[in-house]
Amino acid sequence: MPKAQYGGRHTVTMLPGGGIGPELMEHVKEIFRVGGMPVDFEIVNIDPQSDGNLDLEYVITSIKRNGVAIKGNIETGSLDTGIASRNVALRNELDLFVNVLNCKSYEGVPARYPDKIDIIIVRQNTEGEYAMLEHESVNGVVESMKIVTAENSERVARFAFEYAKQNGRKKVTTIHKANIMKISDGLFLETSRRVAKDYPEIQHNDMIIDNCCMQLVSNPHQFDVMNMTNLYGTIVSNVICGLMGGAGLLSGRNYGDHYAVFEPGTRNTGTSIAGKNIANPVAMLNAAVDMLDHLGHKTHANILSRSIRKTVVDDGIRTADLGGSASTSDVVSKIKKYVIEETSQMKW
Ligand code: ADP
Ligand code: MG
Repeated sequence: MPKAQYGGRHTVTMLPGGGIGPELMEHVKEIFRVGGMPVDFEIVNIDPQSDGNLDLEYVITSIKRNGVAIKGNIETGSLDTGIASRNVALRNELDLFVNVLNCKSYEGVPARYPDKIDIIIVRQNTEGEYAMLEHESVNGVVESMKIVTAENSERVARFAFEYAKQNGRKKVTTIHKANIMKISDGLFLETSRRVAKDYPEIQHNDMIIDNCCMQLVSNPHQFDVMNMTNLYGTIVSNVICGLMGGAGLLSGRNYGDHYAVFEPGTRNTGTSIAGKNIANPVAMLNAAVDMLDHLGHKTHANILSRSIRKTVVDDGIRTADLGGSASTSDVVSKIKKYVIEETSQMKW
């Protein structure tokens, strides 16, 4: 899947997006520079105010050419602009059918649970309630279509079970509301049960989304790999990130058969904290780790990942959202220092 390579280096599309995206991308670029990371960025911007799709088409072309992207969240504007979410359009256009979050606790980071949480979220990423097919059929009556297909339900379930198998996980839990949405969520659940039969070594159970939210708060340790539709996925991702320390920590990966896009896990814009040097840079840097790993630059990925953990866990240098008093640049400087140290000791 990784493409756009020249002399061992990869070209990756960088889409800073709105809010805190641009400042965090500057830090990513700087850390890649000092660490000699073998990646060149093609920077593309989307004007949140423009209502045409030219910008978006340019971004999509760039990602198709490079195969891989790192992105911030694109502002969708207020309700009355009528501009559809470019984030959703981008995932649909690139057929990024699955979103994956590795939710693993950071020791020492203030969290709701002292015991480690280690959950993998596998979420359908292109249909369900995000089909963007809404209309007002008659005055005061709105219809919104939730699309569930056997094909995409199977792709996401298979991804979850394959992931479990290849990573020594024991259980997949499918999350749904098939007691009410019998046909749509019913198809998702039935498909998951059918796929589960191909993986007898992996336990499969299912849970209704409302009970799942309660269970996540009262006993998150019962979950291993979770498999779910699009809207439940965003809710569950935010609940788990909240339990573990908030929006600034975890990264998320979007995959299709041809392209991969890396971003902060909860996809926040962070408009209210932009430009203040207070945003937590860790989620975006973890997205950069995922990207390096995906491109096969394992050594560089490990250096960056270790440098983040040393800074946040061992040294306790953390931004306010994690109970610390460090600024964005304090955290980045320390990570940079570790990256430089480790890179200079590398034996090629
Ligand atoms: P807003 O756009 O109003 O800032 P978001 O929906 O983008 O809100 O984010 C939700 C909450 O998470 C906000 O309180 C925001 O400040 C916080 N948040 C998001 N990303 C980060 C980050 N990287 N570091 C610290 N706080 C963050
Ligand atoms: Mg926002």
